[in-house]
Amino acid sequence: MPWFKVDDGLNTSKKVLAIPRDVRMETVGLWTLCGAWSARELTDGRIPDFVPEELGGSLRQADELVRVQLWHAPGTTCEHSECGEAGPAEYVAHDWHEYQPSRADTLAKRADVSAKRSAAGAKGAAARWQTDGKAMANDGKAMASGRQDDGPDPTRPVPIKTKDLSTVGERDSLPKSPYSASFEEWWKHYPRKESKGDAWKAWEATRKARTMPALQDLSAAADAYARKVKGDDPKFVKLPAGWIRDRKWEDETAPADGGGWGNLRALGGAA
Ligand SMILES: [Zn+2]
Repeated sequence: MPWFKVDDGLNTSKKVLAIPRDVRMETVGLWTLCGAWSARELTDGRIPDFVPEELGGSLRQADELVRVQLWHAPGTTCEHSECGEAGPAEYVAHDWHEYQPSRADTLAKRADVSAKRSAAGAKGAAARWQTDGKAMANDGKAMASGRQDDGPDPTRPVPIKTKDLSTVGERDSLPKSPYSASFEEWWKHYPRKESKGDAWKAWEATRKARTMPALQDLSAAADAYARKVKGDDPKFVKLPAGWIRDRKWEDETAPADGGGWGNLRALGGAA
C-alpha cells in the first residue's frame, strides 16, 4: 500500500553514477525492487540478505549498493545516525527515514483510512436501508414481511465495514512461513521430509558461510539423490539437515559454471 519513492535526481545521483556502467541498470533495479519490498513489508529499509537473492539479484549488485552507500551492510558505518547499524545478515537502505514512509506512519495512515471508510460505510448503509429495501435483499425476513419502514437495525453489522476489516487485516493474518522461498523450493525436491527445522538451520549456516551453490544446482542435486535412493528403506535416506551439513550435493553434481548467486557468494566468501 505505501509507495516506495524514487527521487527525480536519481539518474544524476553521485552514488548511482559511481556504479560501473555495465552493472548500473541491474544494480539500480535491485535497489528499487528491494525498496518496494521493504515499503510493503514495513521493515523501514531493513532488508534481510535472502531478499535480494530471492528477487533475482546477485551478490555483485548488492556489493555495489553497499560500496556506493545506497545500502549499508553489517560492519559498515554511515554518518547519518538515523540509518542505524545493519544487523547480522541484513542490509539497511541509506536515508530511508528521510524519504520513505515509516512503518509507524503507514500503520497510522491505514488505521485512519480504515476508520473513515467504516464511518462512511455505516452512514451509506443506514441511508440505503431507509430509502431502498433492496440494498438489504439478503435479509430475507425484512423483505418477506415488507417491513421496510422499520429503519436501520442497530444490531445489524454494516456489510462494508466487515469487508473493510477483512481486507485490512488480511495480510497481517496470513500465516508466514519461517523459511525462505529458496529453502522451500529445495525442500520440494529433497526425498526425505523430516526435521525441517534442523534442515533450515543447516541451510542458513551454509548460506551465511557463503559456501552454497545456486538454488537450481541444489534442487538438481536433491533430485539426483532422490533418484539414487528411490525404493530404499527411508532410514537409509539421509536426513535433510545432514545432507546439507555434509555438502552431499557435491556427490551429485559437478558445480555448474558461473552466474548464480551461490557461486558469487562462494567467491565473495573467500575474500
Ligand atoms: Zn546511511
